[in-house]
Amino acid sequence: MGFNIAIDGPAGAGKSTIAKKAAADLGFIYVDTGAMYRALALYFIRNGIDGADEEAIKNALTQISVTLQYSGGTQQVLLNGENVSDLIRTEEVSRMTSVTSALGCVREKLLSLQQDMAAAHDVIMDGRDIGTNVLPNADIKIYLTASVAERARRRYLEQKQKGGTSSLEEIEKDIIERDTRDKNRAIAPLRRAEDAVYLDTSDMNIDEVAAEIERLYREKIRS
Ligand code: C5P
Repeated sequence: MGFNIAIDGPAGAGKSTIAKKAAADLGFIYVDTGAMYRALALYFIRNGIDGADEEAIKNALTQISVTLQYSGGTQQVLLNGENVSDLIRTEEVSRMTSVTSALGCVREKLLSLQQDMAAAHDVIMDGRDIGTNVLPNADIKIYLTASVAERARRRYLEQKQKGGTSSLEEIEKDIIERDTRDKNRAIAPLRRAEDAVYLDTSDMNIDEVAAEIERLYREKIRS
């Protein structure tokens, strides 16, 4: 069993940036579970499958394989062998992902892949249900959040840098909608595990949060 750090939290809380940095500093593998859900959503979009049509999704899942590869420490997600890592960050994929990830058949498809990664390696895994559902025995659990306004501001700057044209208001509305869906779904909703450390990053920078995670790690291995 590897050493497992689980990070959960809402969209735009900085999970992936922080997890990537802490993983590089600690020599861990960073597993971005959102990317796996996004890869499935990309398949549904490309094949014109309605996110609300559970039967069609169930059938489609039998045609899909999602695998992870690492090059230079960076996770690449493969959809039926195609590297789709650069295609899964659009707003369209984000929306489809948050709808289809509520389905039990979709979650089941990815669960053992995530658990196998954590069993074989030291990982920092981020998502919505890692501490509560995927790795309930993780060595360290963190619930990372920030105010809606701050999370929207971060996402806005990020997408603007990549040439995106959404307004701050649109992004904030989208984040609120996604959070509501992720928190209120029946299966594996986003919530803080009872034993998770709560970190509000509204007034913290990346280095401060990564340093806090590394401090928790050192404290844990000493005990
Ligand atoms: O983390 P990211 O924003 O890439 O996740 C995209 C979507 O995937 C989330 O809004 C959520 O609906 C879904 N997701 C999930 N469980 C995870 C990771 C992501 O349901 N462990």
